[in-house]
Amino acid sequence: MSNRRTFAIISHPDAGKTTLTEKLLLQGGAIHLAGEVKARGAARRARSDWMKIEQQRGISVTSSVMTFQKDGVVFNLLDTPGHEDFSEDTYRTLTAVDSAIMVIDAAKGIEPQTRKLFEVCRMRSVPIITFVNKVDREGRSVFETLDEVADALALDVVPMSWPIGMGGIFQGVMSFADETIARPEGDSREFLGKREPAVDIPEDIAEEIELARAGYPEFDLEAYRHGDLTPVYFGSALKNFGVAELIDAIARYAPPPRPQSSSEGTVDPERPDVTGFIFKVQANMDPQHRDRIAFMRMVSGTFKRGMKLTPSGLGKPIAVHSPILFFAQDREIADTAEAGDIIGIPNHGTLRVGDTLSERNDLRFTGLPNFAPEILRRVVLKDPTKTKQLRKALDDLSEEGVIQVFYPEIGSQWIVGVVGQLQLDVLVSRLEAEYKVEAVLEPSPFDTARWIKGSDAALKSFADFNSSNLAKDRDGDPVFMARSAWDVGYQQERNPELTFSATKER
Ligand code: GDP
Repeated sequence: MSNRRTFAIISHPDAGKTTLTEKLLLQGGAIHLAGEVKARGAARRARSDWMKIEQQRGISVTSSVMTFQKDGVVFNLLDTPGHEDFSEDTYRTLTAVDSAIMVIDAAKGIEPQTRKLFEVCRMRSVPIITFVNKVDREGRSVFETLDEVADALALDVVPMSWPIGMGGIFQGVMSFADETIARPEGDSREFLGKREPAVDIPEDIAEEIELARAGYPEFDLEAYRHGDLTPVYFGSALKNFGVAELIDAIARYAPPPRPQSSSEGTVDPERPDVTGFIFKVQANMDPQHRDRIAFMRMVSGTFKRGMKLTPSGLGKPIAVHSPILFFAQDREIADTAEAGDIIGIPNHGTLRVGDTLSERNDLRFTGLPNFAPEILRRVVLKDPTKTKQLRKALDDLSEEGVIQVFYPEIGSQWIVGVVGQLQLDVLVSRLEAEYKVEAVLEPSPFDTARWIKGSDAALKSFADFNSSNLAKDRDGDPVFMARSAWDVGYQQERNPELTFSATKER
């Protein structure tokens, strides 16, 4: 069976994702200094103008891939931008993982962003391990937290450990598996790795634990992998409690690479020929070069450097000479990669989000959605002679998944769509910095967009009556630009032979 575990961390900002990531990498021996994740991020950010936005707002726009090993297991951790305005990018990243860790702040419980991300995981049946963080601080009652997860997310919860007090009376975390306690040590009150038998537990907490062990169900691997049950670990990322148990849990329980549905049926990870799909494209990582890195999730086969792969829709193969494996410490040239691994493929715009790559040419993965934008804006050029540059920029940025672009059938006012407000700032700033195009974004007459599908005849007769509401996306596929949600419902009712969908599967 595969030794790959490809996962993401989902959380609300400030719950401790960055701190936990550092600790996971440290334990996995990938980096040597805690704090490096943020420090490296800062150095990277300084490189590109548009990334100033993330600096100013203290958020992380760029998502990256971190690979580490422990006890023969290879972990691929895909970082998801935490800010809610980047949810589309985050959603796409979640199409490339096999499981997720949900980090919850012990004092705050389930927060809005956690819930949103959880829904995406549920949609794709991504199994979840819960980590209740910051138990070294004053938190809510453990039962309250567990009940909230169970109720809010409709999941069975199984506590795998238990905090012995919190805040001022925090005495450590007890693991249920071997009934040992990790206790705070020294002035820093961190966990340094020594476990003790569980004795001298205050009476009220001993009672709690007894209640919990009797009251919650046993861990059930099947139910977890179906996404019906979440094992819950308690700990402190900052003080290093519970992190080793978490890594062990991923190694032991989290699923290996999953099969992926495609145009020719399910593709198993054991299949010998190489297949994969692009879930993210990052452009201009180095402003000196107009290069892009396409992130490919390997679905099957063993990739070898120099291999020729054919992107769906292109028809001719490309040779992948310098693929990149994203180790936390450094980017290394990969020689081989297996199902579950992520490789970065440098290219000049050939590869797009949603593309399938395969050694053979006739395969296309399904189920990688484009989301209907919630915010639409008209792009108005300050210098109208720059139309060509603008078109190129909008095509590029939509390829990258930063925005979606719609070219109306009538008129020349191009429309961009995003799922979050902040993407608009990124757009304007990147247009200027990278394409030397000054533009302003004005309110659009449209409120939302729907991809329409149907027979040629049905599409044509719809177009005859609605040409002022029709646009093409960057692939030339027809889109209905609606003035309101009501408009969508109305047209749907009047045109039962057409489907109006909020997502587009490539
Ligand atoms: P992110 O926004 O989810 O990446 O959160 P960070 O990892 O940046 O953490 C947010 C804040 O919470 C920082 O000030 C951390 O030092 C702090 N923090 C993270 N984990 C813990 C923990 O286990 N205990 C305590 N007391 N603070 C923590």
